[in-house]
Amino acid sequence: MEICIEPTNICSAKCTFCWYGKDGGDLRPKGFISKPTFGQIRRVLKNSNLRQRVISLSTPSGDVTCYPHLLDLIAMINDVGYRVRFYSNGILLDRFMPELFKLKIASINISTMIGSTPKEYSSTFGVDSYDRVMQNIETLKASKIPISIKDVQKRTRWDDFNGLITEADLPPGHTMPSLNEHRRIPCYGLYGKALIEYTGDISVCNCRQSSDLVISNIMDKRTVQAAIRSSESLKAIRNSWWLWGEMLDICKTCSHYHPMTRQIPRILRRTIEGLVVSVRRQER
Ligand code: SF4
Ligand code: SF4
Repeated sequence: MEICIEPTNICSAKCTFCWYGKDGGDLRPKGFISKPTFGQIRRVLKNSNLRQRVISLSTPSGDVTCYPHLLDLIAMINDVGYRVRFYSNGILLDRFMPELFKLKIASINISTMIGSTPKEYSSTFGVDSYDRVMQNIETLKASKIPISIKDVQKRTRWDDFNGLITEADLPPGHTMPSLNEHRRIPCYGLYGKALIEYTGDISVCNCRQSSDLVISNIMDKRTVQAAIRSSESLKAIRNSWWLWGEMLDICKTCSHYHPMTRQIPRILRRTIEGLVVSVRRQER
């Protein structure tokens, strides 16, 4: 399971295609990990002895580099035995370089608009930071940290964030595909991901944010596994989808949906999907 930590839900950009800052988007107050939550995350990671030795820093609504104590957070995670992968728009990275290069980073993933003009960039990202991002990428390239650049102009799947984003909000030339596919099998996000939000809440997925996805809180737990295993709400979310095909509203048009059976061999996948259909028929 991929364990993610959200240092903040504040962002340095205002992308037209994103729900960040839009009315009805992330309904939580803006904030950062507090000192007590930071300490508890350290204790829980130390106790958990996770098989996956890389922790992701990401946020469904913000940018991790807006967290002023990012270097301390990564150093703490390294200190308890994990490397870090993080996702960013790259705007504020210069705040943390070159100190960042001394830490154990598995990869940095930057989402931006390579090869566009500063004007095109600012009309999509909502800020005049094109030159700064390109300079930050050059500095990063000169380090030993593996980086991956995602060009938003090459994206083919866009989210409408349950109606908050329309085709007019996408970069020029892009269309909003229909995400009305049949979602018979529960999403892999309910099995493969957990996000410790900046508040200490644990959300079952890091792709979207909704109070419906919150399954527990880190503050009174000893390990991440205990928080996930003991969650009755997670069982209810999974069972509703398996037994009745009922999913959370936030999952209905999410472009990150993948059936959880995609990760298992095809023959087993067909058997499971067949079983789901026959159980649901009996329920009717
Ligand atoms: S950088 Fe990411 S979180 Fe921030 S506004 Fe753009 S898409 Fe949204
Ligand atoms: S559909 Fe989206 S929000 Fe729902 S579990 Fe999957 S990835 Fe997460």
